[in-house]
Amino acid sequence: MAQEFQRVISHFSHRHPLKLIAYDPETLNLTTSPCSACKLQPSPSGMLYSCTICQDYFLHQSCFEMPVKLTHPFHKHALALVTKPAYGDARFKCDACGERGNGFSYHCKKCSFDLHMLCAMLPLSVTHDSHVKHNLELSSESPYLDNKFSCDICMSIGSCQWLYRCKSCGFDAHLKCATTGDALSVLPPSQSNELPKAAPPEAAAAPPEAMAAKCSRLAPSAPRLPPMQEPNNVRATPPPFERITSSD
Ligand SMILES: [Zn+2]
Ligand SMILES: [Zn+2]
Ligand SMILES: [Zn+2]
Ligand SMILES: [Zn+2]
Ligand SMILES: [Zn+2]
Ligand SMILES: [Zn+2]
Repeated sequence: MAQEFQRVISHFSHRHPLKLIAYDPETLNLTTSPCSACKLQPSPSGMLYSCTICQDYFLHQSCFEMPVKLTHPFHKHALALVTKPAYGDARFKCDACGERGNGFSYHCKKCSFDLHMLCAMLPLSVTHDSHVKHNLELSSESPYLDNKFSCDICMSIGSCQWLYRCKSCGFDAHLKCATTGDALSVLPPSQSNELPKAAPPEAAAAPPEAMAAKCSRLAPSAPRLPPMQEPNNVRATPPPFERITSSD
């Protein structure tokens, strides 16, 4: 039985009360219904807000706690958390990673600007094992022709999407590549004593539209980590975003 806490609470995204529980894959089968906000599966032993009435509605605790409004340094207007895409085809295109999404998004109505919830929370600066000399800074566009870049981690092309870059070295990386620790892919196998990391099952089950999965699709042999889990070899600087609590 999943451990239950005496905490029943409501969330603007759902009409029923939710309760905070510890996810236990043995007793709670959520494989057919991912988190309604980020569309990713729960991580083992993670905390969830689960509907007290529906069998298949839950939010990660971290998704539940997302601010309803935020300002992002790359957009001039405040962004509102919306539970459904504001467009006819029930999907939005994330202006950060370029992938489509159908979960919650941070939306600017004026500009038809959308960010995946998790893309909106990307740190402004990260370090990655493939470029240990310098931090990689989040950039909303590349300095190259047609807003394209060649990812120095997965070696494929990205275009019209945000990237992590080291300006002084001209080192560029997809968002997903720079925030997923994978030092093995940049070393010849003979130089590494580490065993290859096995991809956890929930990573394989994550729908491709949930995050920038472009790099993973182009390099299917690269091990994937679940996006909610921070890899050991990625140090992230917390984003200095301003949380807006009052509604206007
Ligand atoms: Zn979630
Ligand atoms: Zn419900
Ligand atoms: Zn995105
Ligand atoms: Zn705007
Ligand atoms: Zn890449
Ligand atoms: Zn550098």
